[in-house]
Amino acid sequence: MKDSVTKKCQGCKKEFLIIPQEQSFYEKKKLPTPSNCHECRRNRRKSLRNERKLYQRKCDKCDKDLESTYPKNSPYIIYCEECYYNEVN
Ligand SMILES: [Zn+2]
Ligand SMILES: [Zn+2]
Repeated sequence: MKDSVTKKCQGCKKEFLIIPQEQSFYEKKKLPTPSNCHECRRNRRKSLRNERKLYQRKCDKCDKDLESTYPKNSPYIIYCEECYYNEVN
């Protein structure tokens, strides 16, 4: 049985333990052991989940393909960067 290893979290700089079960889990999956503590990893997962979804849309002016946080059925008019720039200037 291996010992727990202590690593320093890249995020909050706190030390955290990687227990032997975890080590063999990462070994089996051929993954490097994480460089962030449990808390930072949990926070990261949370923020990933909250990330806004992007929709494939077309510019309402020139029909250029673009990504927007507004879904197709939203009432907002969306412009591509160029049209937006022309519009505000
Ligand atoms: Zn951390
Ligand atoms: Zn456009």
